[in-house]
Amino acid sequence: LIVFVARYVLKFGGTSVANVARIEHAADIVSRVAHLKNEVVVVVSAMAGMTNQLVSYAEGLSPGQITPEHDTVISSGEQITAGLMALALQKRGFASRSFLSFQVPIETNDDFTQGRITHICPAALNTCLSQKIIPVVAGFQGITKDGRITTLGRGGSDTTAVAIAAALKADFCDIYTDVEGVYTADPRIVPLARKIDILSYPEMIELAAQGAKVLQARSVEMGMRHNVNLRVLSSFVNVSGTTIVYERKAMEGLSVSGIAHNLNEAKITLDGVKDEVGMAAQIFGALAKERIPVDMILQSFTQDGRSNVTFTINKSDVERIVPMLDALKAQMGFTGAAINRDIVKISVIGVGIRSNLDIASLVFKTLADHNINIQLISTSEIKLSVVIANDQMTKAMCALHNALLLDDKNEETTSDTKESLAKRV
Ligand code: ASP
Ligand code: MG
Repeated sequence: LIVFVARYVLKFGGTSVANVARIEHAADIVSRVAHLKNEVVVVVSAMAGMTNQLVSYAEGLSPGQITPEHDTVISSGEQITAGLMALALQKRGFASRSFLSFQVPIETNDDFTQGRITHICPAALNTCLSQKIIPVVAGFQGITKDGRITTLGRGGSDTTAVAIAAALKADFCDIYTDVEGVYTADPRIVPLARKIDILSYPEMIELAAQGAKVLQARSVEMGMRHNVNLRVLSSFVNVSGTTIVYERKAMEGLSVSGIAHNLNEAKITLDGVKDEVGMAAQIFGALAKERIPVDMILQSFTQDGRSNVTFTINKSDVERIVPMLDALKAQMGFTGAAINRDIVKISVIGVGIRSNLDIASLVFKTLADHNINIQLISTSEIKLSVVIANDQMTKAMCALHNALLLDDKNEETTSDTKESLAKRV
């Protein structure tokens, strides 16, 4: 008898380790994989809601600040679940031990609350595996060169899992969550959304970046770079989940895989910008200097020989941009600046979207038929995005989902999934 033994990284999100009973259930999933002689590394998030609670403690003492102590506080939820998971595995007869970031170690830069992994030393984890010990790694945390604790950004334990899978050259990186996989749209907004079986990495990157919250966007980028075999699975129901592959060939005809929405952006419009060389360089240079990321940009010329420059930024950067706009206005002499938070960006994502003219015209026609005004448009190889008024989001998404033939005919999406999505922050 030949048994194919594989190396797995199994990651459990907050709702999958929300209490001791859920941790026991997750440990049963780990047991099933480990019993088959596979090598298993477990990565855990904090119990659902815990990190929010910790953030509010730290915020209460130092509002709006980011210091190393902030990360010391907010990383601590994962320490609890790592220890509990190791205990649950021991209870099931496995040798297991917990690892905090400094014990692996998982090194990051010193960008506190947004740390980037610079290096993972695989030695300690490999030693465990060779001794048949299941390591349980606390997700979300890292350690700087100076030995300070960092965190990897909200949702960062996905990135921990993918980075460990890359460092250990794991055969599979399975992300267990409370939904059945990645959906064609958020089922809370589009009731007929359905689970996607296979997605390409570029599509998943766009879906994650555009607001699908199943995976941290950064984890997907890392998975693509390191060719990690990534799957999204439910720890609540035993279904096949979503597999993310390197490349997905577009079928004939429509090749749209999903529709994402992003409510986190605000639109800034600068009126009466002089039509001169260097204006865009001044505006966006100033934004870059303040580390304010810009997404869509549109410049349009007006009758009076001036132009309007419109762009979108994250809502969380709006407060910081206000004084900058005042300074820029004085410096550049544009006539006004308007901020609009009541927008949503809707992105249609799929292989070969740009080269498929039918998709663009279908999107625009569908929105027009529903009397929805488009404020901004942008395209990429695999994405077509429009900005519209946020009070038209549901109407637009349901109409597009239907027009692009994504509607679920058997309404497979379980009420469980909708319920857990509804609870998600
Ligand atoms: N516990 C962290 C958070 O809530 C990291 C994670 O769950 O992935 O953001
Ligand atoms: Mg998560």
